[in-house]
Amino acid sequence: MIQEQEVHAAEMERTFIAIKPDGVQRGLIAEIISRFERKGFKLVAVKLVVPSKEFAQKHYHDLKERPFFNGLCDFLSSGPVLAMVWEGEGVIKYGRKLIGATDPQKSEPGTIRGDLAVVVGRNIIHGSDGLETAKDEINLWFKPEELVSYTSNAQKWVYGVN
Ligand code: GDP
Ligand code: MG
Repeated sequence: MIQEQEVHAAEMERTFIAIKPDGVQRGLIAEIISRFERKGFKLVAVKLVVPSKEFAQKHYHDLKERPFFNGLCDFLSSGPVLAMVWEGEGVIKYGRKLIGATDPQKSEPGTIRGDLAVVVGRNIIHGSDGLETAKDEINLWFKPEELVSYTSNAQKWVYGVN
C-alpha cells in the first residue's frame, strides 16, 4: 500500500489553465471549471486578473514570430482572465484533451472548444502543452504561496488509494 502511494505521488503533475477574456465575458467560468472538477482533477490555485500587454507577450513568447501574435496579446490583455492551476495524474495531457484542438472548427464535439467556441482567435481557454511549459507558465502567473497545498477529500475515491 505504501509503495502504491509513493508511485501515485510521483505521477501527480500540475498544469496551467486560463479562461481567456472571451470565456469570462461569455459567462463560461463555471461550465469550464466543472469539466475539470468532475473529471477528478484538483484545483490548487485560481485568480481573476487583467494581464498587461507586456505580460501577455511573456506568456505567448513562443509565438512572437507568428502574424497573429500582436492581436493575440492585445486580446489576452483586453479583460479579465481566470488563471488556474490544476493538479492530477496526467493532467497536462488530459487537460489538452478536455480543451480540444486549437482551432474550434477542428475540435471534437465534447471538448471545451468543440462545444463552446467557433473561431481560433476566440477559443476561450489556454492549457499548458507540456511539463516544462506548465512549470514556466505556473511560475509566470503565480507566486509559490498562491498554490494551495491540501488533501482533497475526493482523492482516495478518484485514485482508489488512501
Ligand atoms: P493552443 O496551445 O491550442 O492554445 O495553441 P497555440 O499555442 O498554437 O496558439 C496559442 C493561441 O494563439 C491559440 O489558442 C489561439 O488563440 C491563437 N492562435 C493560434 N493559431 C492562430 C491563428 O492561426 N490565427 C489566430 N488569429 N490566432 C491563432
Ligand atoms: Mg499553446
